[in-house]
Amino acid sequence: MNQGVGKASSAPKAVQTDPVKISLKDCLACSGCITSAETVMLEKQSLDEFLSNLDKGKYVIVSLSPQSRASLAVHFGFSPYQIFGKLTTLFKSLGVKAIFDTSCSRDLTLIESCNEFLARYNKCSPTDEERSKSPLLPMISSACPGWICYAEKTLGSYILPYISSVKSPQQTIGSAIKNHICQKLGLRPEEIYHVTVMPCYDKKLEASRDDFVFQLDSDGERIAEVDSVLTTGEVLDLIKLGSVNLTNLEESPVDKLLSNVDEDGHLYGAHGSSGGYADTVFRYATKLLFGKEIKGPLEYKTIRNADFREVTLEVQGKVVLRFALCYGFRNLRNIVTKIKSGKCEYHFLEIMACPSGCLNGGGQIKPIAGQSAKDLIPLLEAAYSESVLVSDPFENPRIRRLYDEWLGQPGSEKAKRHLHTEYHPVTKSVTSQLQNW
Ligand code: SF4
Repeated sequence: MNQGVGKASSAPKAVQTDPVKISLKDCLACSGCITSAETVMLEKQSLDEFLSNLDKGKYVIVSLSPQSRASLAVHFGFSPYQIFGKLTTLFKSLGVKAIFDTSCSRDLTLIESCNEFLARYNKCSPTDEERSKSPLLPMISSACPGWICYAEKTLGSYILPYISSVKSPQQTIGSAIKNHICQKLGLRPEEIYHVTVMPCYDKKLEASRDDFVFQLDSDGERIAEVDSVLTTGEVLDLIKLGSVNLTNLEESPVDKLLSNVDEDGHLYGAHGSSGGYADTVFRYATKLLFGKEIKGPLEYKTIRNADFREVTLEVQGKVVLRFALCYGFRNLRNIVTKIKSGKCEYHFLEIMACPSGCLNGGGQIKPIAGQSAKDLIPLLEAAYSESVLVSDPFENPRIRRLYDEWLGQPGSEKAKRHLHTEYHPVTKSVTSQLQNW
């Protein structure tokens, strides 16, 4: 639309401008988006879209996050394993062919993260002073799309080299399904419709990134690793929509191909309700770099608040590894200021945009009447950790098989192609135009 300009010479000179366009690129992942592009994108990833794809002849796979499982388990008063079995019954009654568990693909991302950290650490200058100027360390975890979105759109090019290139568990399970598991099932990737159930809306933005769409040949169909994302709350809507009585619903056997369930029916996974990145990489680096094996839980020290905690390893009185969990925008803004000024002393940062991490994601089931978010988090933490056996990702037989059959070694060319990604500074087109208003 062209803006009309008056001819009166005494009138202030109007500036002819193009209409402001808002696109997905302008989204800051605040979960409050209302623009047309986001609406189209979100419609593609809504409950209606999921339901409409159930009878289009595709092989539908659902991948369930452990945070969503914990949220539904607490809400309905079941164990995480029980809710997994009941959701398997529910989804299969709708026509879904398999329900997997992203704790399994998270083990893949953790192994690749360990490998990447070691490579960065070994390449880095050994002196603290020089290290602080290197874009290799601190390595920053990349599983949180809220953080990635903020980094790309607000912080830009200086921060991006610090961010791990490993894709999130959502995208690695998508890549595994569309690039490898489909062949085992005798299907082409485009014959699969893959849905994830996640604790936040930002995962919808993540699944929509061009980086996570591939083509088998130059004029072939564009194939998304993840076709649709449902939040935990949307699964609750689905249960309500069908008036499903979960208490009466039988538990089906869990699909073990890509799920962390052992032969005795126990769930297992890495320690840490937001992914266990700092925990796993710290243990790995301690063992590989300094020959020390840590048994039992790591001792985190609270630094500023419960959402900023650190763990260190000292050798001969000197700190040789310093890792931190840094959750919530208040803490992450402080830490990126330190990185920018070259004063960050951490080797690794597990950054999550939500205070308290993923169990507190915006897509989780809201607290019930009379319950505060503060009351709910410990219940979710307990459900998440008490009924899940802590395991070493490197010992996961499902992941070993993926490396044996598909990827080769951690950090291999194939692993880089399918499990790693790149980040891009994004011009704040609307914001900069708005500043001129
Ligand atoms: S921290 Fe929050 S925004 Fe980030 S992945 Fe977890 S739930 Fe999503």
